[in-house]
Amino acid sequence: MAVKRVIEGVYVVPMGFANAFLIESNGELTLIDAGFPGKEAAVFGAIRGLDRSPDQLKHLLFTHGHPDHIGSAAAIVRGTGARTYMHPLDIPIAESGGPFRPMTPAPGLLGRVLCNLLFHPDERLDPVAIDQPLTPGETLPIAGGFEVIHVPGHCAGQVALLWRPGRMLFAADVCTNIMGLGDPVGFESLHEGRASQRKLATLSFDVAGFGHGKPIARNASSHFRNKYGKNPEDLPQQRSAA
Ligand SMILES: [Zn+2]
Ligand SMILES: [Zn+2]
Repeated sequence: MAVKRVIEGVYVVPMGFANAFLIESNGELTLIDAGFPGKEAAVFGAIRGLDRSPDQLKHLLFTHGHPDHIGSAAAIVRGTGARTYMHPLDIPIAESGGPFRPMTPAPGLLGRVLCNLLFHPDERLDPVAIDQPLTPGETLPIAGGFEVIHVPGHCAGQVALLWRPGRMLFAADVCTNIMGLGDPVGFESLHEGRASQRKLATLSFDVAGFGHGKPIARNASSHFRNKYGKNPEDLPQQRSAA
């Protein structure tokens, strides 16, 4: 399978209507997220596409414990032996394979349609053991350094990962980039979700990857600042005046 390069050392792996990212750094492979169930062949294919073998995948970082991010995790770990990492609040979900905390659809019709279509809290998955809990604020000494940023709202145990060497932010499902930056399908807490979007808009990075939608390869933090740099609750309610 052809792998799609985002920047030097970062490749996007399509996992259904979700992305995983493969990072090649200092001869070591790291995967961020594990897609929907049954998509492990896409990861093994991407690894072979880089002339590597699956046992060279050393680390599997999860942005959060939703079915579209951990679906193929157990199969990937079986095929690679990768060490797994997740925020403590989501570890029990991954290790039991569900059920999942309910979400309220994102505001708007599209959110309601997609949330009901794509997210089923009672879904059960192959459980995956987590080797190491992620601590917000730490920089993981993997692939030259991933800063762990806690970004709850869509999911209580969600983290964004800032990869220092490539100045790339892995934004998880804080937002999507399907038709420009937009909301994920749903929120456990809309208030916290908005705060996390604003938090990412305060960071400096060049490149951004998303759980859903296309990566942004240049000037990514300015896109975040334009969209989330102001508190939307401070803006006049123009729509209701129309
Ligand atoms: Zn999610
Ligand atoms: Zn997702």
